[in-house]
Amino acid sequence: MSKDFSTKLLRWQEDNPRPLAWKGSKNPYHIWLSEIILQQTRVEQGTPYYIKFTSNYPTIADLANAPENKIMKDWEGLGYYSRARNLHASAKYIHETLGGKFPETYEEILKLKGVGTYTAAAIASFAYDLPYAVVDGNVYRVLSRIFGIHLPIDSTTGKKYFQEEVNKLLPREKAAAFNQAIMNFGAKHCTPKLPACTSCPFSEDCVAKKDDLIGDLPRKKNKLSKKARYFNYLILTDSASVQIVERISKDIWQNLFEFPLLETQQETKLNQMELLLEEQDQFKDKFEISFIGGGKQTLSHQIIHAKFYKIELKGSNSPFTIEGGQFVSFKDLANFAFPVVIRDFISKNIYQSSFLL
Ligand code: SF4
Repeated sequence: MSKDFSTKLLRWQEDNPRPLAWKGSKNPYHIWLSEIILQQTRVEQGTPYYIKFTSNYPTIADLANAPENKIMKDWEGLGYYSRARNLHASAKYIHETLGGKFPETYEEILKLKGVGTYTAAAIASFAYDLPYAVVDGNVYRVLSRIFGIHLPIDSTTGKKYFQEEVNKLLPREKAAAFNQAIMNFGAKHCTPKLPACTSCPFSEDCVAKKDDLIGDLPRKKNKLSKKARYFNYLILTDSASVQIVERISKDIWQNLFEFPLLETQQETKLNQMELLLEEQDQFKDKFEISFIGGGKQTLSHQIIHAKFYKIELKGSNSPFTIEGGQFVSFKDLANFAFPVVIRDFISKNIYQSSFLL
C-alpha cells in the first residue's frame, strides 16, 4: 500500500490544487513565516497576516531590525503571541549570528526558536526538497483512519509510531509535494467531522470507513478540559483617555495590553464588584461603578470570561494611575496590541459610541 498510497495522494493533489499565498515559493524566509503563522491558525485566518508580514518586513533583516511592539501590533488578533516573539528572536539570530543566511539543514532549522520537528520538516522539504516528512493533526487523522492506527496521538509511543510510518510512506524525491498533499488532503477531504468518503481515492482500503471507526480515529489519551477564568476589567477614564497596563507576568497574553484587571474565581455581578473595590483603599468611598459589557475568548487550555466595568470617581477625585498603568488617549489605543476580547470591546464601545464622554 505504501507506494500506492503516495501515488494516489499525489494524484488527488493534482486534481485538487489549493491556492495558497506562499504556494510554489522556495524562499525559506517566506516559508518559515507561513509555517509559524499557521501553527494553531487556519489558512483562511493566517493568509492576511502572511501578506502583511511579507509586505511590512520583506527581508529577514527588516524583521530583525523592527521594534518588538510593532511586530506585536502586526500580530494582534492571531493569538499565541510567543510565536511573534520567537519569530523576532530568530530573525535577530539569523541576521546577527548567521550573517543573514537562513539555515539550510533540518538540524540547523530546528535550532530556531519556536521551530519544532514539524515546522523544521516543513521548511526543509518546501524550501530545500529535503526528505523530511511532516506530522501534524491532519497527518494523524489521515493515517490513523486509512491504516486503522489506534495508538493515542498524544502519547510518546503514538507520536513515534506515526512519524516512522509517514517516513516510510514519503517518496524521497517528492518530499515537498507529498507533505503538501497529505496536509491538504486532511484539511480539505478527510476532515474531522465530515470526511468526503464517497469520493475518496482511499475508500476501498480505508480501515476506518470499513469498520465504521471514522468518529473514533484518531484517538487521544487526554481530552483537554479547559479552565474557566473570570477577568473583570476596570475602565478608569478621564473622558479623553483611559488607563491601560501591560501584562508582564508569565501568563497568557504576555506583553499585550489590557485595562486594570481584577481576576476572580467566579463570574461577578455588579454589586459584588462594588464590594470588592470598596475593600481596596484606593477606591474606598470614592467611586461609582457601572457594567458596560462582557465578552468571551477561548484559548487552547482556557476560556476567558471578561466583564468591563466603568469606574467613575466621585467629586473632586481624579483618576489615579495604578502600578504599571498609563493613560492613553482613545485615539492612541490603536497603537497598542490587545487580546482579541479587549480589542472587540474597544471597537464596539470606545470607537463607536460616546459612553465614556
Ligand atoms: S474513506 Fe473517508 S475516512 Fe477514509 S480516508 Fe477517505 S475520507 Fe478519510
